[in-house]
Amino acid sequence: MARKIERISTLFQPLKVIPKNATLKGDNLLSNSQKLMLENGIIRQSGNGMFHILPLGMKALEKLIKLVDKEMAKLNAQKVLLPALTDAKLWIKSGRWQTAGAELFKMKDRHSKEYILSPTHEEAIAALVASISPVSHHKLPIRMYQISSKFRDEKKSRFGMIRGKEFIMKDLYTFDQTLPAAKNTYAEVCQAYDKIFGAIGVSYAKVIGDNGIMGGSLSHEYHFLTKIGEDSLMLCDTCKYGANKEVFEGENCPSCKNGKIQEKHGIEVGHTFVLGSSYSAPLDATFMDSDGKANPLEMGSYGLGMTRILAAAIESLSPADEIRWPLVLTPYTVCIITPKDGSKEEAASQTAYKLYNDLNSINSLRGDVIIDDRGSLTIGKRVLDARKTGYPFIIVVGKKSLLADPLFEVFDVFKSECLDLRLPDLMDFISEIVSPRNANKWKAAVPG
Ligand code: ATP
Ligand code: MG
Repeated sequence: MARKIERISTLFQPLKVIPKNATLKGDNLLSNSQKLMLENGIIRQSGNGMFHILPLGMKALEKLIKLVDKEMAKLNAQKVLLPALTDAKLWIKSGRWQTAGAELFKMKDRHSKEYILSPTHEEAIAALVASISPVSHHKLPIRMYQISSKFRDEKKSRFGMIRGKEFIMKDLYTFDQTLPAAKNTYAEVCQAYDKIFGAIGVSYAKVIGDNGIMGGSLSHEYHFLTKIGEDSLMLCDTCKYGANKEVFEGENCPSCKNGKIQEKHGIEVGHTFVLGSSYSAPLDATFMDSDGKANPLEMGSYGLGMTRILAAAIESLSPADEIRWPLVLTPYTVCIITPKDGSKEEAASQTAYKLYNDLNSINSLRGDVIIDDRGSLTIGKRVLDARKTGYPFIIVVGKKSLLADPLFEVFDVFKSECLDLRLPDLMDFISEIVSPRNANKWKAAVPG
């Protein structure tokens, strides 16, 4: 079946002009990523702390979901979807109805039954497992995750999708028989998180975290390091030790003893917890041990802020006026620019579409090429647009593609290089870059 051609002329990408030093209505601060994502039609604000994710934003989000799904599958974690509404009774049982306070969106149905719009799902998933408890110990561990909208009445929603009232989280919940088994699970999930953040390629730190209102015994946070980060991190300059300032004690590195501690700003993009029985006990999520006795399950909870990761990655990588996506998350890896209508090189139009098909025949590039067919615009204007939107490779089909042996102009935006390549060399060049075996090599070119 012929593939639909991905074209910019029909793409829903409403641009927005944001004056310099602007603040948005209801938002006291405008971050660079928020500005760039709004200006370039990646997202659209629908209200304070609320965003529409537009087609380009969805392409990036879907790539992130795929990356996360792949690592979750390796953990044998199974994907589920729990209701956004959670019965208030469950939160009363866990104690969080009180402690979560004003951040909870509370609501009643027509029969005056109370619910919350869930900010996270520990209670809901514990209740699900409780409904089949006691679980036979042969069925353990249980690992379930979802990717869904979460709701928090943030005091200060700001920085666009970095802190919204509604956002998309990946939340994994695990159930083990013993605390040591739960800690093994914890180590496995942390490894998966390191793979995910390694693939994204933004510099990040894993630090000892605050258990906050979650409870439990062990917790780490994953942060992207950027100056607008609202968390202060204490990082050792010698070893890998790091802690959130909220839990850091002492002056020297508690791990290697002689390293100096540096304070840096971070945006929390992931959080991992060993929860013990703080939810399973009150909610009766239990397993049957070999003596036939029911015991509370040892739980773990593992969040990734999916929409925050997209925005925070852009925040970390981008200069003031152009989006830089992590290569693995860019909505399209290649943008082909067709000749201008009425120009001498218009005859090369067909070459542009042939190139589109050729590039789509590279396995890891299928569906990942877009063609800027807005022929009424000059090539220069379209190159500028492509740079702003953040396509890492821009290929211009211009004058030189009329030569007997056609040449294509290839802009490698990250490296700030422009190459004139013949078709076979161009195919080799792009294949090399998108080849999974070169992921790390390419990432080295990412600034920040
Ligand atoms: P923060 O301290 O930034 O408010 P949190 O510690 O309350 O975050 P968690 O409960 O640990 O957040 O949620 C898991 C993940 O969900 C976070 O690591 C973060 O990436 C993401 N997240 C939390 N709140 C928001 C929000 N308001 N908007 C977007 N993403 C969020
Ligand atoms: Mg957290």
